[in-house]
Amino acid sequence: MSRPKIAILGAGYGGIMTAVRLQKEMGANEAEVTLVNKHNYHYQTTWLHEPAAGTMHHDKTRIMIDEVIDNNKINFVQDTVVEIKPEEKRVILENGELTYDYLVIGLGFEPATFGIKGLKENAFSIRSVNSVRKIKEHIEYQFASYNNEPEERNDLITIIVGGAGFTGIEFVGELAERVPELCEEFDIDRSKVRIINIEASPTLLPGFDEELVEYAQNLLERKGVEFKTSTMIKEVTEDGVIIGEGEEIKAATVVWTGGVQGNSIVANSGFETNRGRVPVRDDQRTPDYDNVFVVGDCALLINKEIDRPYPPTAQIAIQAAHVVSKNVLAMIRGKELESFTPDIKGTVASLGRGEAIGKVYNKKLYGATASAMKKIIDNRYLLMLGGPGLVWKKGKLKLF
Ligand code: FAD
Ligand code: NAD
Repeated sequence: MSRPKIAILGAGYGGIMTAVRLQKEMGANEAEVTLVNKHNYHYQTTWLHEPAAGTMHHDKTRIMIDEVIDNNKINFVQDTVVEIKPEEKRVILENGELTYDYLVIGLGFEPATFGIKGLKENAFSIRSVNSVRKIKEHIEYQFASYNNEPEERNDLITIIVGGAGFTGIEFVGELAERVPELCEEFDIDRSKVRIINIEASPTLLPGFDEELVEYAQNLLERKGVEFKTSTMIKEVTEDGVIIGEGEEIKAATVVWTGGVQGNSIVANSGFETNRGRVPVRDDQRTPDYDNVFVVGDCALLINKEIDRPYPPTAQIAIQAAHVVSKNVLAMIRGKELESFTPDIKGTVASLGRGEAIGKVYNKKLYGATASAMKKIIDNRYLLMLGGPGLVWKKGKLKLF
């Protein structure tokens, strides 16, 4: 009898953890598993603000897939998913196609642009290794150009970050570390450089603990970050941004951190979605297909206690992967499926070198303690993914 075919699309937190769990839990020859990913590496999305600013080399964030996937148990296909045809149990790839009995969609997020004019064309986003390499190189080029201009062009050394959610805050924290180094390297007066974080809501990190937000704001302002709250970015142009009632701020670098949505391939393949995210059942299956699971940022999970969606996070993607791997096997074995309820342990956000804020098990953390906690969380993930060897190789071993 032929083995059931499981296809996993995307090797982000959700996809790769599903694959790693399956290779541990599956019996020999129980299923034929194929993992498809655009690149031959998995990257740590949660670290990307660092290489984007240039405070970490991008190689530190990536892990070759064959380092964590056992080729004897899982076929890895490096290719790009173009479309899913759930009625035909088929996936169209850029260079071929595959068929499946069970599908796990883990294609991750993309920037939500909310139809803002010029945003797609003129702003960068923190999305992948390729996208952050471009941001780092672009910023360096603007700094290098500054002293070559016949007239003073302060826009070259103005960096606008659109959105002060966790991504925006973590990124400006890294920029505040990097800018003094760039100023020294390119002979630029630090006081002329502007890092401006623009946020539509009245506060940074809307909805997060007020005391921690105040700590973050004070710290980042001391390091030279300017915040413009209650200010909406209306348009992004080649020269900068248009805010509020039409005021222009000139900047050669605009990085959009104003929100995310599920990968558009999912909606374009005909799945029911809300901002690109599939409102999954309790067992992580799509509403319409019994053999299709969604894991990570492409899934919309409702927190029933407050009747609102959970924010899309790696924390949830990793936890959901454990349940999805079990549920795929349960289907094959004719067993009952488990429900998934996220167990939110907390949130910790970095604010540059040695600084962070966080709430873990309802306890507030600041400064060096929060920063060490963030590194412990990062190392714990590497331990789950590839064991102590991977922590040793890619981990953040210096906690303080
Ligand atoms: P992703 O991590 O987005 O991975 C998707 C994968 O699919 C990638 O490997 C991609 O290459 C691949 N892929 C995409 N399209 C295709 C295609 N067409 N064909 C083939 N492969 C494809 N969350 C936390 O819990 N804690 C944090 O501290 C945290 N920090 C963050 C910091 C930053 C800067 C950012 C941007 C996000 C952060 N998040 C954090 C959110 C977290 O990164 C996401 O929730 C998480 O990455 C979602 O995981 P995922 O598996 O759904 O997808
Ligand atoms: P987000 O949606 O959390 O924040 C986007 C921010 O941009 C919001 O504050 C919003 O008010 C603002 N915004 C939207 N449109 C705007 C406009 N036109 N002008 C100005 N401001 C505008 O998005 P994110 O920060 O990218 O985070 C995405 C997900 O990743 C979230 O679930 C977040 O919790 C998670 N994340 C977690 C961490 C962490 O735990 N350390 C770090 C980064 C991201």
